[in-house]
Amino acid sequence: MDLKFSPEDIAFREEARTWLEENRPAEPRPNEWPDARDFDVAWQRTQFEAGWAGISWPAEWGGRDLSMLQQLLWYEAYARAHAPGLGVNFVGMSHAGPTLMARGSHMQQAAHIPQILRGEQIWCQGFSEPSSGSDLASLSTRAEIDGDDLVVNGQKIWTSYANVADRQELLVRTNPSAPKHKGITWVVCDMSLPGIEIRPIRNIAGQEEFCEVFYNDVRIPLTNVVGGVDNGWSVAMSTLSFERGTAFMADIVELANTLERLVEQAKAAPAPLGKGRAYDDEAVRVQVAELRAEVAALRALNYATVSRIARNGKPGVEGSIVRYYFSQLLQRTQALGVDVLGASTVGPERFSPWARGQLNAFRASIAAGTKDIQRNIIGERMLGLPKDR
Ligand SMILES: Cc1cc2nc3c(=O)[nH]c(=O)nc-3n(C[C@H](O)[C@H](O)[C@H](O)COP(=O)(O)OP(=O)(O)OC[C@H]3O[C@@H](n4cnc5c(N)ncnc54)[C@H](O)[C@@H]3O)c2cc1C
Repeated sequence: MDLKFSPEDIAFREEARTWLEENRPAEPRPNEWPDARDFDVAWQRTQFEAGWAGISWPAEWGGRDLSMLQQLLWYEAYARAHAPGLGVNFVGMSHAGPTLMARGSHMQQAAHIPQILRGEQIWCQGFSEPSSGSDLASLSTRAEIDGDDLVVNGQKIWTSYANVADRQELLVRTNPSAPKHKGITWVVCDMSLPGIEIRPIRNIAGQEEFCEVFYNDVRIPLTNVVGGVDNGWSVAMSTLSFERGTAFMADIVELANTLERLVEQAKAAPAPLGKGRAYDDEAVRVQVAELRAEVAALRALNYATVSRIARNGKPGVEGSIVRYYFSQLLQRTQALGVDVLGASTVGPERFSPWARGQLNAFRASIAAGTKDIQRNIIGERMLGLPKDR
């Protein structure tokens, strides 16, 4: 791996930093719908119009066709400028768009990728079901072919942004008699179709970011199938490789920022017993030092991922190590923030940013495969340990 930046990379980084400093939204992202969606869409649109959306995406679809390293430099400039996260554009930008680029037909790419980049099409992911999460291949939402359509009946759960999404990457069972990995289809579902019912679920941080989605005789044209009927498991594996391998690059960069924010606030906050500053406590400084070292190691792993993608063209199974390690460091950092800042994290709002951050950090070791599933993947597919029974 070559960690040196070329003069072009350095010039790109400077240009990105300047643009972000001048253009990032000044106001914070609203916490409630529909304002949060409007905010995310407007910010995506601003980036697109200035040529900063889809750094490594093909120019044919409105991207810049630049390298994955430049994509990562963009994320670093982004975190440095404290620009807001992808919000409702997360699924489209992080894994639906990349899956369509890897597995979709030219017509499907033309119909969706430019709209995703422009913030005109919000996506959600309909994979998990009430009895099929870690064991995703056991999913039972049924789709029968009727003329030129698939007719879908069943239920999904934990579908982030379903209540504000236009499209969904939907996994359905098209052949119940085939072995469980064989009879699954990956299809683009229009969320405004008749027969779809969406019920938001309130999470522990008080936000309605994920939903239950019910399908009652929903007719989806067969032309929306990606990768072929009954061939959806391999398409889903492409989606998950992006979701585990590259989708969290920006969050990893942001984690270093969160830690430094904690240090600044601990220097300003009084110690719990009122003597000196919270940061004067040696135990706190030891934990901060350990986290700084580990976050630096995580960022090195992130660079290694980029280097591998540059060689192989797609994220590898090593993404599970990064995903697992990131989730643990994020949770430790957020918990330390609440411990150190104590009562000062409780503000006039129902949840202060640190309290909300700690509650939201739980998701990192569940979504996109729990920490146990990531460990199983590392054990079986990288270390060659016996298969999980
Ligand atoms: C914030 C958030 C957003 C999400 N967004 C989406 C979304 O947009 N779309 C979507 O489809 N899904 C989404 N999910 C769902 C997520 O993918 C599932 O929650 C996850 O895959 C786990 O499935 P489960 O909840 O059914 O838990 P289960 O699979 O029932 O697991 C329960 C427990 O058993 C453990 N376990 C299960 N199997 C094994 C095993 N083989 N070995 C060891 N331990 C095991 C798990 O680690 C876990 O601790 C989201 C989840 C969260 C938290």
